[in-house]
Amino acid sequence: MRIVLVGPPGAGKGTQAALLAKTLSIPHVSTGDLFRANISQGTELGLAAKSIMDAGQLVPDEVTIAMAKDRLAEPDAANGFLLDGFPRNVTQAVALDEILKEWGISLDGVLDLEVPEDEVVRRIAGRRTCRNNNQHIFHVEYKRPQVDGVCDICGGELYQRGDDTEETVRTRLEVYHTQTEPIIEYYQEQGLVTTILAMGSVDEVTRRAIEALRKDEDED
Ligand code: AMP
Repeated sequence: MRIVLVGPPGAGKGTQAALLAKTLSIPHVSTGDLFRANISQGTELGLAAKSIMDAGQLVPDEVTIAMAKDRLAEPDAANGFLLDGFPRNVTQAVALDEILKEWGISLDGVLDLEVPEDEVVRRIAGRRTCRNNNQHIFHVEYKRPQVDGVCDICGGELYQRGDDTEETVRTRLEVYHTQTEPIIEYYQEQGLVTTILAMGSVDEVTRRAIEALRKDEDED
């Protein structure tokens, strides 16, 4: 299956994408994670992306599209993938369609995670991420680690992402509304979108997501 996950920052895309990818046996491809890996490895791309990310803005399309294409061309993505955080605007969506067309394949579905806006700000501003593994995510209120600042899973240091401050969250939400939301309409025109409510426990949302994707598959 080739799926795109969309939703505002804080909708739980990263968490759900990791779980869904495991269930569906396809790689989870997150452009945010790819950028963060470049930042921690100190690459030129990472250096260029860091200040843009910390400001909550989008990294230029040319760089992002090339990076996503390279990742999708890797062998593990040959039979499917779950894209998280890409495409993030209509230019990227069109570019993705062209890349897939060139490869003779197409998307199977787009899963849209819906969350009320004040919940998004609460979720993100309290989020703490593990330095060792950015899938290990905690929250100062909703999912406190046993020891403050320490990851329960691997003992890594928990930190607040530079783009997870309340001020940056507001910018990221604005960027989401103005630049990313239009891709939902773009994909609706292709009949690809299923929207689910991303509230409730992580397991509940995963169940809803799997049901929605299976339904999509049955309808094809
Ligand atoms: P995420 O982890 O998906 O929330 O992404 C974190 C940040 O990485 C975003 O706020 C952007 O600055 C950058 N980023 C991730 N994916 C993209 C993309 N597809 N296009 C442009 N910038 C991106």
